[in-house]
Amino acid sequence: MLEHLRSKPASLNSRSSGDSASSAAPHEAHIFWMQKMDITPFDFSYLGSLLQQSYTDWHAQRRPHSDRSSIIYNVWNTEGICMGQGNEGVPLLDVHSTVMQCLESGQAQSLRGTTENGEYHLMAEPLFSRTNRDMFAVFTAVTYEQNRDDTSEAVVRSEALHYRTCFYRRFEYIFMTDLLHAHEQTAREDHRRSILFQIVQRMHDKMDVDAILDEVFDSIDYLYPTTRMTLYMSQDQSSLNPRIKPLLVHERGEDICVQSFMEGKLIVVRSDEGEHRILEVGLPLKGKQGIYGVFHIEMNEELMEDSDLQLITMMADTAGTAFENAKLHEQSNMLIQELRLINDLTQRLNKSLQLMEIYQISEQELKDIFQAESCCILQLNESTNHFEVMSSNVNELCRKTFPMDYGISGLLYQTEEPLILSNYAKYDKVSSVFMDLTGSMSLIASPVRVNGEVKGAILLGHPKKQYFSYDNYRLLQMLSIHIGLALSNATLHAEVRRLANLDMLTGLYVRHYLDTVIHERQAHEFCGSLVVVDIDQFKQVNDTFGHQTGDQVLKQVSDIVTSSVRPEDICARWGGEELAIYMPQIGARQALEYAEIIRTRVAEETRPSVTVSSGIAEWNWMDEKVSVESLFYRADMALYDAKHGGRNRIVMEKQEVTR
Ligand code: GH3
Ligand code: MG
Ligand code: MG
Repeated sequence: MLEHLRSKPASLNSRSSGDSASSAAPHEAHIFWMQKMDITPFDFSYLGSLLQQSYTDWHAQRRPHSDRSSIIYNVWNTEGICMGQGNEGVPLLDVHSTVMQCLESGQAQSLRGTTENGEYHLMAEPLFSRTNRDMFAVFTAVTYEQNRDDTSEAVVRSEALHYRTCFYRRFEYIFMTDLLHAHEQTAREDHRRSILFQIVQRMHDKMDVDAILDEVFDSIDYLYPTTRMTLYMSQDQSSLNPRIKPLLVHERGEDICVQSFMEGKLIVVRSDEGEHRILEVGLPLKGKQGIYGVFHIEMNEELMEDSDLQLITMMADTAGTAFENAKLHEQSNMLIQELRLINDLTQRLNKSLQLMEIYQISEQELKDIFQAESCCILQLNESTNHFEVMSSNVNELCRKTFPMDYGISGLLYQTEEPLILSNYAKYDKVSSVFMDLTGSMSLIASPVRVNGEVKGAILLGHPKKQYFSYDNYRLLQMLSIHIGLALSNATLHAEVRRLANLDMLTGLYVRHYLDTVIHERQAHEFCGSLVVVDIDQFKQVNDTFGHQTGDQVLKQVSDIVTSSVRPEDICARWGGEELAIYMPQIGARQALEYAEIIRTRVAEETRPSVTVSSGIAEWNWMDEKVSVESLFYRADMALYDAKHGGRNRIVMEKQEVTR
């Protein structure tokens, strides 16, 4: 009934607003409005407790002298049900029928009768509403003849009026309580709205993902201190906040968080915990582009209203948008940072065309970028089918070689994919000298491609578990592409240089290369010999067999020369049909032995058969003048002597040795 009445003021107000005193002072208008409030026949069936409470009030307020214990007063509702005290001593049937008559006629009724207590007088007074004069109750009084006095009818009427006043006071009190309640509710709403506004403002002011999430926790803690809240993140979100945890969908099964995350909406479950009703809420952290996680909230249901849940939902929505914005901001910052790193690295790499330098620069830069403890860059040697460590900050690894199917580098070669390990101790796919030697638990590794083929591997390690992030792994993958390009450039450059130093016909080095090498060697070594080899009567070969055959003979002699000397000896085409061999770290006597092998083999193996003459000169660090020119000059003089000595022979500076 109370609820029904509470919904009335607005309708009653509007009904009575036609004659409301709009010109009256505001406070008077208020009172006027209150007085115009009234009940209608629709309320009659709900008036029970109001009639009873009014009866109690009326009874308590009665003046002592008017308290005649022999008069029994009562109140009846429009259905003829008694709302006051009992009617001991008076036949209930009589009273009831008199009340019903009063209700039907709308007139006061009177009845006289007799009981064992004597004669009684029953009076029934209808009670009317104050504005429309609808009869809403009947007030009855029973007196016994012996107490009868002439004023009793007037007394009963005045008591009935007093009762009606008490009734309306109660009635107005309900409106006042209702108003007060509405006022409190509005004030609370206002407070919530202003808090929400501040929270929204603070969240949008922040561009840091962690700060936004902390703000949500702080706000919930402030507004609902007894609430338990956890945030489960679907993505890798490293946070120091212990209430932020990963959402492990597979481990959680079909729980409220998974459901809320999957469906992207609020899920509420009610349960009992001891004496309390517990409200369990799953609330998604949702932006425009996706769902990032889910809040799990547990709270005491008694402390929560629907509007609280709305407030929390609005906060989560705001947090979702702010989180997404901050995440995008963070990502674009990271991209800029990555581009800067790539730019810096490629700039440094492009300054060098030296392979070794590129390996060293890459090793230092990568170690710095990823703050790795150990770094190792390997190159695939295709002639030995081994990976060779080209640069590493781990001394024990430098220049080490590993079979191409071994360890991490072997795996990278096989899969052609980068690799990230967060705990090597639990990794059993391959064993790795790099990881074992450096005591690393975390690893990021990437193959290095040159012209689309895996030609190397980069390994970065750290002793801490879960040290490298997925972003690190992605960035390394990107940087390794640029390192591959730099290596490819340097390799091409080296190849061009090598080709520029080679003679096309013979495959031997060209003269200026030999000059440079001898010059360098003379600066660092103790001694060396130069053998100059000239084909005898070569003009005749050309004249007899033609130039093409002449070329073939020249090639045959060149092959014999290269295959007769040591790997470290450098064979060059000195000019025309004249060849030169620089033999480091040996004297003329030892060089002579090789020259003799050449002379013999040429005579035996060339077709058409030719012979060669050689001149040998040597230098050592004690010579007065050490120079490439003098060495060539002296060897040439010796050759001259060999020619004049009859050809097919070798002369060691000023001294003919053998024929
Ligand atoms: P010798 O050295 O024994 O004194 O006689 P020679 O005939 O070998 O010497 P000469 O200097 O008179 O002639 C060198 C010849 O080598 C001249 C040239 O036609 C020939 N010649 C030089 N370079 C090449 C070449 O690349 N191909 C061919 N087919 N012949 C060449
Ligand atoms: Mg010649
Ligand atoms: Mg010649």
